[in-house]
Amino acid sequence: MNDCIFCKIIKGEIPKDFIYEDEKVVVFADIKPSAPVHLLIIPKKHIAKLQDLGDNNKELLGHILLTANKVAEMKNIKKGFKIVINCGPDGGQKVPHLHVHLLGGWRGGVK
Ligand code: AMP
Ligand code: ZN
Repeated sequence: MNDCIFCKIIKGEIPKDFIYEDEKVVVFADIKPSAPVHLLIIPKKHIAKLQDLGDNNKELLGHILLTANKVAEMKNIKKGFKIVINCGPDGGQKVPHLHVHLLGGWRGGVK
């Protein structure tokens, strides 16, 4: 996708510090954080939204969630965090490239 901002970040066309990267995903900080720790976990493959995934994507979906665990550990928030996926425009999704929000770092629980 030529005009996808997350594809541009993945390709390095827009500079961004990756907190984590492997062959399937990248993780970076949300530009407008809604929590003390707010990261985005993004598949390298352009997939517009969760609804576009099927049975053949089970491994990728598992990988994304297990990456959340890994990155939560790296960020010292594994005790408790929140995962949000906005699914399609009606679900509040603004960037049409699948991404998982990882939110945490509240002291003493979610405010
Ligand atoms: P959503 O509403 O689920 O599509 O969330 C998109 C998220 O991407 C928002 O929380 C934005 O703050 C974040 N975002 C948009 N552009 C960038 C960017 N260039 N770098 C980091 N985060 C971004
Ligand atoms: Zn994309």
